[in-house]
Amino acid sequence: MPEAATAGLASTAAPSRDGAAVNPLRQGLESDRISDPCNIVFFGASGDLFKRMLLPAVYSMHLKGMLPEKFGLIGFARSDFDDDTFRAYCRTQLENFAPPDQKPSGDLWNEFAKSISYVCADFKDTKHFEDLRAQLEENDRTLGTAGNRIYYLATPPPVFPEIVKHLKLAKLDPKSDDRGWSRIVVEKPFGTDLASARALQAAVERVFNERSIYRIDHYLGKEPVQDILALRFANTIFEPIWNRNYVHSVQITAAEQLGVEQRGAYYDNAGALRDMIQNHVMNLFALVAMEPPASSDANAIRDEKFKVLSEVPLPAIDAVSRVSARGQYGPGTIDGAAVPGYRNEADVGLDSNTETFAAVKLTIDNWRWAGVPFFLRSGKRLARKVSEIAVTFKPIPHRLYGDETDAIEPNVLVVKIQPDEGIALRFEAKVPGPKQHIRSVYMDFNYGTGFGVQSPPAYERLLADAMRGDQTLFTRWDAVERAWEIVTPIQEKWQNTKDFGFPNYAAGSQGPQSAFELFPDWRKL
Ligand code: NDP
Repeated sequence: MPEAATAGLASTAAPSRDGAAVNPLRQGLESDRISDPCNIVFFGASGDLFKRMLLPAVYSMHLKGMLPEKFGLIGFARSDFDDDTFRAYCRTQLENFAPPDQKPSGDLWNEFAKSISYVCADFKDTKHFEDLRAQLEENDRTLGTAGNRIYYLATPPPVFPEIVKHLKLAKLDPKSDDRGWSRIVVEKPFGTDLASARALQAAVERVFNERSIYRIDHYLGKEPVQDILALRFANTIFEPIWNRNYVHSVQITAAEQLGVEQRGAYYDNAGALRDMIQNHVMNLFALVAMEPPASSDANAIRDEKFKVLSEVPLPAIDAVSRVSARGQYGPGTIDGAAVPGYRNEADVGLDSNTETFAAVKLTIDNWRWAGVPFFLRSGKRLARKVSEIAVTFKPIPHRLYGDETDAIEPNVLVVKIQPDEGIALRFEAKVPGPKQHIRSVYMDFNYGTGFGVQSPPAYERLLADAMRGDQTLFTRWDAVERAWEIVTPIQEKWQNTKDFGFPNYAAGSQGPQSAFELFPDWRKL
């Protein structure tokens, strides 16, 4: 069945069981039930992502009345479960990972458990995909799921093409299985470099068309990320100054305090540039820099995201050191506790050349942004966990106020993504008293206190969108490919030249000195 036209941004749903009468900002936050019946098949249902993120998100949707009335959840992995033991496993994982007010119990759990089944399978075996087909058909009969399917690839990326190929062999592809709609959600990373991303795309598009492919980047499901568009295009005061005439520079930060945890083997083959900059940070960059879309339709927004990425000149290989900085953490202190350096983490080589910090300067060759630098950085084991976008405006043209010793700082608009979610504006104000002292102050909006609710977790929002057929917050192939093209010269240069200065920043610090040589004005972490 052909995919319906994608919906726009207006479908944001957030829980609101109480309080709408108390806080007028909460009006419009009521949950809305997804109408199409459907099944979600989770490939990799015994894995880490499923138990920590995906299952709690689906169960939360159930508790909020957001799931369709006719719904099936099918787990698919090698671990030895049957339907009953998988249900028990799900219950245990919800007890472990669901928020305190969303633990499984009573009729609400029993009702949800009825929708769960499991196919014990190997991705390499077509017969097991026939078992999956039988389970889907049974769900259509018994749960009324109407032939609609979402295939969620929560597995190691190397097996993505295998799964897609077997879906086709088992006639579970949209062309053969035309009783309802079929969509595929692909976890990140979409490829490990430009060539592998293109190969993966070729494998997926042999079976699914772009309308049915949902490349997930969970950063895009975070409420403040979505609010970048609302901030820019639902207000009159920001857009007129959103250009080279007023903006001095933009910095985008995705900093973590955590190290590589248990994922050393994966991370040592990835690094900060591929793990964060190519996807999360580049998506934020595109949303901040893109032109106003003609409508809130998914493709109108995604057209503009691609367009601005295509206006970023690719760095020449011999210019890489002028537009980027890399780092790797050594031992240090986080929250008062000593932590080891990257090279002493489990499954990491003692002479690893992998960067745990990456900073990149991008420019945009268009009328709006000519001459405005965008600085992107991401790293592990930094002083503070913070993701934010800071737009720094130009300095005042003429000094009128303030003691000569007062610095008059430029205005900065900060979109706070995590851990705080909100928007802050730094501006200059007169210090009370007879003297003309000027000091920076903040106007600070926080989503939690402003709207009186916590933002729904990103996976919940994105799963709901995939069920509704809204691709707005999923990355289209042209943007994925372009983001790979932008980072490829840097990635190749870094891969082919060993950094003998590694480790070059202490865990718990502000990052390597080279980042400050690239851009001295990074906001303090
Ligand atoms: P895990 O290694 O924890 O889980 C992998 C899953 O795939 C397991 O259920 C495993 O089943 C199954 N699997 C692997 N090979 C086969 C096979 N041949 N046949 C059948 N099942 C197989 O991975 P994660 O959950 O951590 O990650 C999954 C995806 O999500 C990856 O793409 C990752 O990059 C992405 N991701 C993960 C995040 C996280 O926090 N974990 C965050 C963001 C993205 P079994 O063990 O039963 O064999």
